[in-house]
Amino acid sequence: MTEPSTPAPSDFIRDIIDEGLRAGKHEGRVATRFPPEPNGYIHIGHAKSVCLNFGIALQYSGTCNLRLDDTDPAGESMEYVESIIHDVRWLGFDWGDRLFYASDYFEKLYAFAVELIKKGDAYVCDLNSDEVRELRGTFTEPGRESPYRNRSVEENLSLFERMRAGEFPDGSHTLRAKIDMASPNIVMRDPVLYRIKREPHYRTGDRWVIYPMYDFAHCLSDALEGITHSICTLEFENNRPLYDWIVEKLIAGNRPRQIEFARLNLSYTVLSKRRLIDLVRNRNVKGWDDPRMPTVTGMRRRGYTPEAIRNFCAQIGVAKNDNLIDVSLLEHCVREDLNEKAPRAMCILRPLKVIIDNYPEQQTEDFDCANHPQHPEMGTRKVSFSRELYIERDDFLEDPPKKYNRLGPGREVRLRNAYIIKFESMRKDEKTGEVTEIHCSYDPATRSAPPADGRKVQGVIHWVSAVHAVPAEVRLYDRLFTIEDPGSEEDFLSCLNPNSLETLSACLAEASLKDARPGAQYQFERLGYFCADPDSAAGRPVFNRVVPLRDSWAKIAGGLKKG
Ligand code: ATP
Ligand code: MG
Repeated sequence: MTEPSTPAPSDFIRDIIDEGLRAGKHEGRVATRFPPEPNGYIHIGHAKSVCLNFGIALQYSGTCNLRLDDTDPAGESMEYVESIIHDVRWLGFDWGDRLFYASDYFEKLYAFAVELIKKGDAYVCDLNSDEVRELRGTFTEPGRESPYRNRSVEENLSLFERMRAGEFPDGSHTLRAKIDMASPNIVMRDPVLYRIKREPHYRTGDRWVIYPMYDFAHCLSDALEGITHSICTLEFENNRPLYDWIVEKLIAGNRPRQIEFARLNLSYTVLSKRRLIDLVRNRNVKGWDDPRMPTVTGMRRRGYTPEAIRNFCAQIGVAKNDNLIDVSLLEHCVREDLNEKAPRAMCILRPLKVIIDNYPEQQTEDFDCANHPQHPEMGTRKVSFSRELYIERDDFLEDPPKKYNRLGPGREVRLRNAYIIKFESMRKDEKTGEVTEIHCSYDPATRSAPPADGRKVQGVIHWVSAVHAVPAEVRLYDRLFTIEDPGSEEDFLSCLNPNSLETLSACLAEASLKDARPGAQYQFERLGYFCADPDSAAGRPVFNRVVPLRDSWAKIAGGLKKG
C-alpha cells in the first residue's frame, strides 16, 4: 500500500478500534473496506470514506478491500467500475489483490438464503410491494404478519427455487426474513431479502432473475471477507441490528463491528449520485468530469491534487452528527498544496496592448525567471521581452483612484521580472471610447533592479510579449449553485448558478505554456492556480482555473487551521 503523507488523525472511530484491540477483539486484526455501488462516479463524499477506510488500514497495518457492491443491476456498469478503480488509485490508495465484487458472491448468497429457509428464518411471500408496505406498520404502530409467513420449510424451499428458475413474474414473490413484525425498529419487520427482477446484470448477464437486497448482500459480503470494522454512514444505524441478525444466523463468529459516521455535506454542492446523474443527463454540466462537478474525476480535471483532497478529509475529520462543511475549506487545501508545487507563469486573460516607444523595434531579450519564488530547485525558464506587450485590461485605468497601484496617466509600474515602464499616451476607439492601446517608455536601468534615483514604484503587474505569446483559452469557474445547501431543495436544479462557467477565448500566455501537458498545474501570477485541460490543442492550450489566489468568498475565517 502506498503511504499517503497525510498525518493520521484521531477520532471516535479510531478510539473504538483501539479499545477493541486492547480487548483482544478480531485476533488483533484491522480489516476495512470501501464498498461503492458502481452506479455513478465517486465524489468528494466518497473520498472521505476512502480516506477513512484506507487511512485506518494503513495506520493499523491492516487491510482495506475495494469491493464493488453491485447487487442491483439497475444503473450499474463497467464504465463506473473502471472509473472507481481509477479514482481510488489516483487518490493514492492501493488495495493490492483485494478487489472484490459482491456479484461474485451471488451463488454463496443464494446458498445462505436457502440455509435461512431451512432454519425456519425466512419465507417466500406472495404479497406485492404495495401490500408489503401496507402491512409494515409505522413508527407508532406495529406491523401485521404476512398470510404467507407460516409456510413450511419444504414449500419455501421449492418456491424459492422456482423464483430463481424464473417461474414467477417480477415483483410477484419475495423472500423475507422471519424476524418480528412488532419490532419497534421497522427494519426488523420481516425485511425483504430477495426479489425477482428481470434485468441483465453488467457482470452476470441474465444468469439471475432474482437479486439479493442490499441489506442481505452487504453484511454477508463484509463477513465473507473477514472485515473487522464496517464503517458506514449514519443512515445505516437502524440497519445494524438486521446485519447482526443475518450474520449471527449464518456466519456466527465473523461478525464485523459496524461504526456509523456523518456523511460529508459540502456547501454550494450536491453530493448524491442521483442528483449528479441528473446534472449530467440534463446537460447542466458537460459530463461527470466537468471541472465544476464534485466528482473525483471532475476535481482532477479542475486541477485539484490528491494531496489536497486527502488533507481536506483529514482536516474535516469524522463526526457523529450531520453538518455542512464550507466548500471554501476544500479550496483552501487546494490553494495551500498548489502554492508549494505549482510553477509560476504569466498569462493575460483580457489583453490590452502596450507599446514601449523607446524600446528598439527588432530587439528581444530573454529573462530567466524563477519558476517558484521559494523553491530555487524548481529552476528557471526563459521569458521573452520585446517592444510590444500585452497587459491585463484592468491593470490600466484612465482615471484611477489614489490607491491604485497599477498603470494610469502619469504613473509608473514594474513589469514582473522585467523593467519599470511609465505611461506616455493612449489610443482610443473613436466610436466606443474604449482604450485600444497604450504607449509607455521604459527605464533601461531598472531591469530587475530598483530605480537608481530611489523613487518609489509600488505596483508590479504581469505581461506577455506580443510576438512571443501563445493564444490560449481560459475557463473560469464559480460555484455550481447559488445557495448554500442545494441538496435540501426539492427542485435543486432551480438553484443552478447561471454564471458558473466563464470562457475567455482570447487569452495570451507566455511561450513556455505553449505545450502545457494536460493536468499540469501553474500559478498564473496574480490570477490564481490553473490547470491545463485535455481540450488543449497543439499550440493552443486550454486552462481551467483551479482556484483564485485568494478566497473571493472570504467567509472562511473560523474553523480553519492556522497555517
Ligand atoms: P450517494 O448518496 O452519493 O448516492 P451512496 O451512499 O449511494 O452515495 P455508495 O456507492 O453506496 O454511494 O457509497 C459507497 C460508500 O461511500 C459508502 O460506504 C457510503 O457510506 C460512502 N459515502 C457515500 N456518500 C458519502 C458522503 N457524502 N460522505 C461520506 N461517505 C459517503
Ligand atoms: Mg448506497
